[in-house]
Amino acid sequence: MKYDFLLFDADDTLLDFKKSEDISFQIVLKKNRITGDYNSLIESYKTINNLLWAQHALGIVSKDFLKIERFRKFLEVNSLSADPVMMCDDYLNTLPDQVFLIEGTLDLLTSLHKKIPLIIVTNGIGVVQHQRLHNSGLKPFIDLMIVSEECGYSKPDVRIFQHTFNSLKISHEKNKILMIGDKLETDILGANRIGIDSCWFNPDKNPNTTKITPTFEIQNLKDLIIHL
Ligand SMILES: [Mg+2]
Repeated sequence: MKYDFLLFDADDTLLDFKKSEDISFQIVLKKNRITGDYNSLIESYKTINNLLWAQHALGIVSKDFLKIERFRKFLEVNSLSADPVMMCDDYLNTLPDQVFLIEGTLDLLTSLHKKIPLIIVTNGIGVVQHQRLHNSGLKPFIDLMIVSEECGYSKPDVRIFQHTFNSLKISHEKNKILMIGDKLETDILGANRIGIDSCWFNPDKNPNTTKITPTFEIQNLKDLIIHL
């Protein structure tokens, strides 16, 4: 094999976060008695949430602020009244139970397990990500999971990668490590900055409108094997 270590992003690379988010959000609306056009409500939430995560990646807002602010802003924008702290709690309590795999995840990890160390490097909330990994059934395949909240740095910050390498006691050359992820701005940019190869998982064949260049791109997880 060309690589000695594989670093995977979790959400929307191995786990179907979009589906988890969708179902969790529906539960939060129901619990907080919020009614209205579901599609426009979730789109509004996603826009606000994505913007806040982008600001977090740039170091503008903290994760603690983001957790509540996304619901506060959502209520404000949609002129709804509910308690954003309660919504945040409901969301974080239900999210770990809503776990779905991306097509091909289980086959891929089964075929790579014990052949090469499989590491997850994820931007997220520690307790949520560990619970989700546990509920996904993927835990036996994963040698180590690094969560941004626990290490103090988020992708694309090189320090989350340095922290990962230190945890793994990696003294190998960087060309033996591959990062696989769906986000150019975090997974691929982070890999480029630390100087390791990267695989952009791009199932929807989105055009790359950034100046961030992955080493290679795949549309299906099963296609990763041919690059290893
Ligand atoms: Mg992702």
